Amino acid sequence: MLSVSSTRLQRRLVTLSTFGGLPGGGVTRPAWSPHYEEARAWLLAEMRNAGLATWVDPAGNTFGGLGTTRLAGDRPVILTGSHIDTVPEGGVLDGALGVIAGLECLEVLSETRTAPKNPLAVAAWTDEEGRYGSLFGSRAFCGKLDAAKVADMAAVDGERLVDVMARAGFDARQAPEARTPAGSVAAYVELHIEQGPRLEEAGVQIGVVEAIVGVRRSRIIFRGQADHAGTTPMERRRDAFLAAADYALRAREHVVTRGSRRSVTNVGVVHVHPGASNIVPGRAELVHEMRDPDAAVLARLAQECQALADTVARERQIAVEVVPLSATTPALAAPRVQSSIEDACRALGFTSQRMDSAAGHDAQNLAAITDMGMLFIPSKGGRSHRVDEMSDGDAIERGANVLLHTLLALARK
Ligand SMILES: [Zn+2]
Repeated sequence: MLSVSSTRLQRRLVTLSTFGGLPGGGVTRPAWSPHYEEARAWLLAEMRNAGLATWVDPAGNTFGGLGTTRLAGDRPVILTGSHIDTVPEGGVLDGALGVIAGLECLEVLSETRTAPKNPLAVAAWTDEEGRYGSLFGSRAFCGKLDAAKVADMAAVDGERLVDVMARAGFDARQAPEARTPAGSVAAYVELHIEQGPRLEEAGVQIGVVEAIVGVRRSRIIFRGQADHAGTTPMERRRDAFLAAADYALRAREHVVTRGSRRSVTNVGVVHVHPGASNIVPGRAELVHEMRDPDAAVLARLAQECQALADTVARERQIAVEVVPLSATTPALAAPRVQSSIEDACRALGFTSQRMDSAAGHDAQNLAAITDMGMLFIPSKGGRSHRVDEMSDGDAIERGANVLLHTLLALARK
């Protein structure tokens, strides 16, 4: 039975981690940064050394192909991949694993002169972590990038997309041209670390993703009355922060008790105005996020939370405004890709369980244009988006071998 080279896979993961590597471990490699561009150049060279054809699309998505030199409608490609950008002070496996394992799988097929029916390709998607809007590269590839918005896109640090892309030799206004022709991808499968604790706690080796959750974000603005914090009697205060705090607690309770049991919720941004200790807060804004694998559940929860915000405001005699910020729809994995992953696990003697992905991934964009699937390996302690993110070497090898046999099964059909 074909298998990957664990040594080569580990060596490449270690080398990739040196681009933007931090002294105490972990890595900072945001999309389009000099470290990112060095890593991408290295990756292209590794792909070529592995015997793959390479190409880069106008959004910066970087491909290595086996049996193909591009993506076109005439010979549909079985595609794998992930991303090589990271969050600030991130781990060495988030994204990197899927790209390097995909490269390893294609190299094994190339070395052994295995020629599946469909050509195969591995992609490193640009800017998965959202320096310029989330999942930039796969959005462009799947035809979801709004050309009108590209010119104004800027990072939190103020750097404009047009400038960073120009520095790397790209014209940002052409990024939407990365849209792949209809029918060019026969299936997409991505290997990723779980980024949560469920597989490790269950003692299961491989997670087979059924759905990637949808995410809804709203800005909720409570308007009360700013007042002197010493002289205003307590019973007369219309404190906007207390309304926001009340809402945050009750919204959490509502989502936990009335959601789908898979629903999660977070308030991660709070602004209080004017923001002085001697002024009763006149305005408080928070960003409320909810996630669930079922679009109908998300829509219902959003409606109910709007009603809850109105109730809280009425009870506290202040005004409230709910502004929807973003809503991604849940993406379902294709049954045939899920069963190919499970067949590979069985053939290799690994345990697996079906699960949702509570984190966003490029695969959710690919689901709109082809049959999508994802597999997870356990993350130690469930840790991710931090420098001590890690998975066992054995788990990494298992994940890569399951990916290899899933790709083979999909490419033969
Ligand atoms: Zn990732």
